[in-house]
Amino acid sequence: MDTGSGPPPDVLDDAEARTRYARHLLLPEVGLAGQRRLAAARVLVLGAGGLGSPALLYLAAAGVGTIGIADDDVVELTNLQRQIVHGFPDVGRSKVSSAAAAVARVNPGVRVETFDQRVSAQTADALVAAYDVVLDGTDNFPTRYAVNDACARAGIPLVWASVLRFDAQVAVWWAGHGPCLRCVFPHQPAEGDVPSCAEAGVLGALCGTIGSLQAAEALKLVLGIGEPLVGRMLVHDALRQSWDTLALQADPECAACGSPVGGGRGARLGAVALALPVPAEPVAVVTARELSIEMRRPHPPVLIDVRPEPERAIVSIPGAVAIDLADFRSGEAFSRPELGSLGTPLVLYCKTGVRSTEATRLVAAAGWGYAANLTGGVLAWVREVDPGLATY
Ligand SMILES: [Zn+2]
Repeated sequence: MDTGSGPPPDVLDDAEARTRYARHLLLPEVGLAGQRRLAAARVLVLGAGGLGSPALLYLAAAGVGTIGIADDDVVELTNLQRQIVHGFPDVGRSKVSSAAAAVARVNPGVRVETFDQRVSAQTADALVAAYDVVLDGTDNFPTRYAVNDACARAGIPLVWASVLRFDAQVAVWWAGHGPCLRCVFPHQPAEGDVPSCAEAGVLGALCGTIGSLQAAEALKLVLGIGEPLVGRMLVHDALRQSWDTLALQADPECAACGSPVGGGRGARLGAVALALPVPAEPVAVVTARELSIEMRRPHPPVLIDVRPEPERAIVSIPGAVAIDLADFRSGEAFSRPELGSLGTPLVLYCKTGVRSTEATRLVAAAGWGYAANLTGGVLAWVREVDPGLATY
């Protein structure tokens, strides 16, 4: 990897620097040569938020010579629950300014480049081109896809992560060496399709776990050691304290990278929690007849009616609980006691099955476990199971 221009390589001739990095210098995989490599490296951190906070602090402490920080937000009180690079006195200050000051406190030898701007498809190429490794700690899909595409075009490794509630995923997208974000998630979710941390919440300490992991991956990439998370995705559930690894493949027809190393489309996702939905994936379905048998079993699934009250008043399936589709969109549904505990089998329905398909997809994306959509909705139930009920 081209480590670019940076501080002079004799930076470690200084006794204080050798003392500062003593625990790195003891590692055969780092040593003096590796520490000089870190000093010459340029790492860009997008988002000085929950993930960017620990990442920035560890990159600075590790002696990365130049750290770029891009964020257009101002520190708010709600950020302090997880964004540990900022403190209470920083509320109201720009995040890049606050983060740059924190980096300087940890390691005044680090050169910081700040970009008080939201990264877009128009600006991403120019921004990432000057860096060796990019770390994505942003929280919106347009930025994530723009950054992925820019890194794929430039062949720059992108250390990516996603956190929501208690779930997280981490991967290194690196066109030419493995898949990019678009190989695995070809379609950018529409705004509102996936709840954000602002809507659904996130365990603050989980950001620490995952942002630190991103820093470790970035340092490994700079040092050229170990096996980076290229072609693999770590899937973490903080409630179960479980870590799973998914094998991912590049898509030879990917719109962003069209990588030559691919073999087959997309990820083998399995039944794991993903904060990103895969819109092309069909949701599990159940027919009205199958559901009528399921509902007579000793442990029936929780049946959820996602329609608004006026429709429910006309006709409902006996035993159903009402949770509006809007509550699934906002993420509020997942804290409702009627849903049972995480992993309780759910069947969702609406009038004909369209709205409940969306709700089922949101349940699957939230990593709930088994959820199925009632094909044909309540109308199919009336038709096939209980013709005595009203219809509309
Ligand atoms: Zn790709």
